[in-house]
Amino acid sequence: MERPDLRAKYRAERDKRLRPDGNDQYMEPTGRFASLLDDPYTEPFEREPIDEELSVVLIGAGFAGLIHAARLVQAGITDLRLVDKAGDVGGVWYWNRYPGAQCDTAAMIYLPLLEETGTVPSRKYVRAPEIFAHAKRIAETFGLYEGALLSTGITDVRWDAASSRWIVRTDRDDTLRARFVITGTGPLSRPKLPAVEGLDTFAGPAFHTSRWDYSVTGGNPDGTPMTALAGKRVGIIGTGATAVQAIPHLAESAGELFVFQRTPSSVDARGNHDIDPDWFDTLEPGWQSEWQMNFATLQTGGFTDEDLVKDGWTDISNRIRDAVVAAVGAGAELTPETIATAFGEADDLKMDEIRARIEAIVEDPATAEALKPWYRQLCKRPCFSDEYLEAYNLPGTHLIDTDGKGVHRVDAEGVWVGDRHYPLDVLVIASGFEFGTDVGRRSGYEITGPAGTTLSEHWSDGMRTLHGMQTHGFPNLFVAGLTQAANLISNVPHNYVESANTVAAIVAHAREVGATEVEATAEAEEKWLSLLMNGSALFGNPDCTPGYYNNEGRPIDDSARRAMAGYPGGAVAYFTHIDAWRRKGTFEGVDFR
Ligand code: NDP
Repeated sequence: MERPDLRAKYRAERDKRLRPDGNDQYMEPTGRFASLLDDPYTEPFEREPIDEELSVVLIGAGFAGLIHAARLVQAGITDLRLVDKAGDVGGVWYWNRYPGAQCDTAAMIYLPLLEETGTVPSRKYVRAPEIFAHAKRIAETFGLYEGALLSTGITDVRWDAASSRWIVRTDRDDTLRARFVITGTGPLSRPKLPAVEGLDTFAGPAFHTSRWDYSVTGGNPDGTPMTALAGKRVGIIGTGATAVQAIPHLAESAGELFVFQRTPSSVDARGNHDIDPDWFDTLEPGWQSEWQMNFATLQTGGFTDEDLVKDGWTDISNRIRDAVVAAVGAGAELTPETIATAFGEADDLKMDEIRARIEAIVEDPATAEALKPWYRQLCKRPCFSDEYLEAYNLPGTHLIDTDGKGVHRVDAEGVWVGDRHYPLDVLVIASGFEFGTDVGRRSGYEITGPAGTTLSEHWSDGMRTLHGMQTHGFPNLFVAGLTQAANLISNVPHNYVESANTVAAIVAHAREVGATEVEATAEAEEKWLSLLMNGSALFGNPDCTPGYYNNEGRPIDDSARRAMAGYPGGAVAYFTHIDAWRRKGTFEGVDFR
C-alpha cells in the first residue's frame, strides 16, 4: 500500500540533513587529534630493518589479511608476511576497544575459520575481547606471527619491472621484494572527526571511539565499570552503530550523559544468548560454511529450508523476499518495479515496528519521539540492542536531538547546539570512519604500478577491478574487499573467506605454470565493470537520509556508484560465479606470463 504521508515525512527528514559539503564535513585527525592515528595499546619497540625477497606481503593483519594468509598457507605458500601498523593482529578488533563493542552479526558465521581453529563462540553475539582473541588464534594456528611485521607502517609500494616484484617499504626501513601484494585494510579503518568549529579547543579529555581512553574513563574492554566517570558530565557526538553499543555503558557510569544526535539509528532487538559448547558437537563438519551460505542466501532474497541464524538481518531480508513472493502470487509480474514496491512495503512495516518498539521502551514521550528513525531501514546501518533504548530511561541520560543539524560548535567548556550550551567534563566522538575518500589518503601510502601511475590516480574516476580484487595495470596486486564483488555488508569476514579462496588459487596457479606476472586484462575488467554498473543496487538510494551508504547524500555519480557496487545478483550469485570461475582452472580474464 502506497503511503504518501510516510514518503513525505522521509523526504522532509532527508532534506533537513542534506548538505553541500558531503564528505568534507569531516576532517582528518590533526593537531591535538593527530595522536588518534597512533597505537596506544602497544609499547614502542626497536627492531632491525628487514631486506628480503618473499612471495607475498599482506598489508593489514585484520580478518582480511589473516584469512588470506591462512588460505595461502593451506595452499603451501608459506613465505609471506603480514604487515600492520597495529601492535597485534585483529584490525578493527584491535583498535576498537570501546565499552560494549561486540559483533552485530552472529558469531557462528561472523568469526572466520572457526572449524579450522577448533573454536566455538561463547554467545550468539560475542564481545570484542573474544573476537580479538579469535584473531590471535588464527595467527597462531597458521603460524602467521613468525613473519608478521607488527607496529610497522607501509610507506610505499612500487612495482619493479626488472624483477616483476613489488618493492614494499615501511617506516622501519624494511624493503620487502614481494612477488604478490594483498591489501586487506578494510572498508572503514581511518577514523574521521566532525569538522565543527572549536573541536580542538575543548579543555577536557576528548577521544574518538576507536581509541577509547580508559585512563580517562576507568574500566576496561572486558566490561569493568568505568568508575572514573562517576559524577562527570560526559558528552557523546554521534548515534551510529558504535555509539549504540557504547551509550548503555556510558549511561551506567557517567554522572550525566549527553547524547548529541543528528540522525537516530534504527535499533531492533538483539536477543543475545549463551551457546552451550556441546551443541557444536551436534553439527556436521563443514557446518560453518553451510551456515554462512544459509545466511548469505537469505540476505540476497533466496530460499533455504531453514533460517539457521535467524536474527535481525535475516528478518529484514526474509520480509522483503516474502513480500515479493506475495505480490507475484497475487498476479504481479516479477519486474524491478514489483520488487521495488514489495521491498518498500516490507520496509515500511519493519520501520513501523522499530518506531513502535521505541515507544514501548522509552518512557519519556518526547525522547521516544526524537529517537524515531524516519527513513528506510537499509538507508543506514541497522543496529541491534536490548540496552540502548533502555539507557534513555536512566535519569542521568539526556538525548540532545539536533533536529538533523548536528553539533556545530565546541568550545573549551562544552558543546553548543543552536544557542544552547552544554558544559562537559569529557567528550566522546563517535563520528565514524572515512569512506569513499581517496585510497592513498585512507591507507597513508601509495601503490605505484608499472606505468608510474598510483592506484589513487588510476581510480580517481572510480574504482576499477575484475572481481573486486584485481586491477589492470597493477599486476600481482590483490585487493581483499567487498566492493565490486559480493558486497555482503552484513557479514564482512565471509567476503574475505571467499576472496581468499580465489587469491590462493590464482597464486598457486601462477606457481604451477611458472608465471611471474599475473594481471587482469583490460577487456575483462571493462566487462566486469559494465556488468556491475548495469546491475541494480540497493544501496546509494538518493532518497535516503545522508550517510556513508549513499555518498553523504551527494549525487551518486559513476565514481560513487563504483565505490558501492556489488555483483548484480547479490552475494550468493557472486560466490557461485567466482567458485565456478576458480574451479574451471583457466582463470579467464587473467593473464599469467
Ligand atoms: P557512523 O558513521 O555510522 O556514525 C557516525 C555518527 O556520527 C552518526 O550518527 C552521524 O550522524 C554522527 N555525526 C557526525 N557528525 C556529527 C555532528 N556534527 N553532530 C552530531 N552527530 C554527528 O560511525 P560508527 O562508528 O557508528 O559506525 C561505522 C560503521 O562501523 C558501522 O556502520 C558498521 O559498519 C561498523 N560497525 C560495526 C559494528 C559491529 O559489527 N559490531 C559496531 C560498530 C560499528 P548522521 O547519521 O546524521 O550522519
